[in-house]
Amino acid sequence: AHANIGVVGLAVMGSNLARNLASREGNTVAIFNRSYAKTQGVLDAHPEAGFIPAATYQEFADSLQKPRTAIIMVKAGAGTDAVIDELVKVFEPGDIIVDGGNAYFPDTIRREKAVRATGINFVGAGISGGEEGALTGPSIMPGGSDESWVTLGPILRSIAAVAEGEPCVTHVGHDGAGHFVKMVHNGIEYADMQLIAEAYDLIRRGTGKSPAEIAEIFAEWNRGELESYLIEITAEVLRQVDAETGTPLVDVIVDQAGAKGTGAWTVQTALSLGVPVSGIAEATFARSLSSHPEQRAVAGALPGPSTGSGTDEFTVPADQVDAFIEDVRLALYASKIVAYSQGFDEIRAGAAEYGWNIDLGAISKIWRGGCIIRAQFLNRIADAYAETPDLPVLMTAPYFAEAIGRAQAAWRRVVVQAAQAGIPAPAFSSSLSYYDGIRADRLPAALVQGQRDFFGAHTYKRIDKPGTFHTLWSGDRTEIEAEDTH
Ligand code: NDP
Repeated sequence: AHANIGVVGLAVMGSNLARNLASREGNTVAIFNRSYAKTQGVLDAHPEAGFIPAATYQEFADSLQKPRTAIIMVKAGAGTDAVIDELVKVFEPGDIIVDGGNAYFPDTIRREKAVRATGINFVGAGISGGEEGALTGPSIMPGGSDESWVTLGPILRSIAAVAEGEPCVTHVGHDGAGHFVKMVHNGIEYADMQLIAEAYDLIRRGTGKSPAEIAEIFAEWNRGELESYLIEITAEVLRQVDAETGTPLVDVIVDQAGAKGTGAWTVQTALSLGVPVSGIAEATFARSLSSHPEQRAVAGALPGPSTGSGTDEFTVPADQVDAFIEDVRLALYASKIVAYSQGFDEIRAGAAEYGWNIDLGAISKIWRGGCIIRAQFLNRIADAYAETPDLPVLMTAPYFAEAIGRAQAAWRRVVVQAAQAGIPAPAFSSSLSYYDGIRADRLPAALVQGQRDFFGAHTYKRIDKPGTFHTLWSGDRTEIEAEDTH
């Protein structure tokens, strides 16, 4: 037994992670896959890795030093449960099972509890960055016990991406905390992508610029405060010309965006926690809307803004094009701040609900490398939490409040123009509404509460005195003190 780490599941993610592990000083990697053919394939293709292959779970366990540590990278769901069941039979108390797949965090909470009962440690670890990240350095979000972190920490630090000299991994919190944070990461990713897509759409439809020209705009933006992997790859995608037709690839791709479900999980969880992640929700719904061709076939049946008079064209006058593009950039930046603020709000609420002690600043730091939302911007988030660890709303940190203050006139102009031109900008506009909702002195929620009291005797509080009240709506409409049934 001389492997210090094992990997179960040798499809693309597992084999890349195993190779990453093997390439780091001090690691000897045991590998196992349900069907041995894959194990043999990985052995043959990568003799340099010095893998220790196992044909059975027992052999796999025997090849590992104690405490045995194994990372599972198999099909999320039933596959993960099947492997855990087998590993529990051959592992001993104190050993560590890590699930590196994209598990839904309630599953991780359930599995951690069940495995813990055997004395074995179970760690749900979110691993971001896709195939490339798994091979060269992912961002890793592990949950699980403090005990397992002692053994696991150095191993995960050895393979994680490095951003500004720091490994992109931190012990996020207990049981499902890691997978929870990975889920929200993906939700933020949905919002960020949608915002970029809306920016592209507005510029294209407003200025008539070609995808290649817009690629240059994004490349330029990537040198400023928006610098990020997603902006960078957006320029690459827009620049791409389809070999077959000679037209921009983006014009050949069917305009229906797929989803594997992590955005929906983020939104569902936010709904249960009562956290308004409206930007992430709109981004998720925008993908849903795009993917219903039978509903979208009504094009033409629904009048646009110019029906009757004028023109449907939305054309920014030539002398205002540069100013318009700058407005869109600022709207994108402000909306992005909102999306991240909402995402961190969800992590904060999840931590409170599930009893996790999550360092929000540390989370922003481990997203600086090895994941899709990596960006300069995350340093500003880390700074904000370093200054005020219990910041209730991220965007109120002085840096972000100032940035939004600078952007807000442009942001409002862009949302108005989009609405007037009939161009959907759900993430831009919902982010702005959220911003205005949070900063509002008073909200019409007072009226909603009045309605609730009217039809359901749900009671209300008064601004001028303590207590809970109900108006006798169907009686003489006097107010009485009531039990709190909010
Ligand atoms: P797949 O999700 O395609 O899963 C295939 C692997 O699962 C194979 O090794 C297969 O073994 C194994 N497997 C499936 N069912 C069982 C079972 N019942 N018992 C034992 N083994 C089983 O592999 P990927 O590499 O694409 O992804 C692995 C994990 O990583 C998934 O959870 C996925 O969601 C996640 N992922 C994460 C990404 C990221 O960016 N973070 C990107 C892609 C994936 P066999 O060869 O015998 O069939």
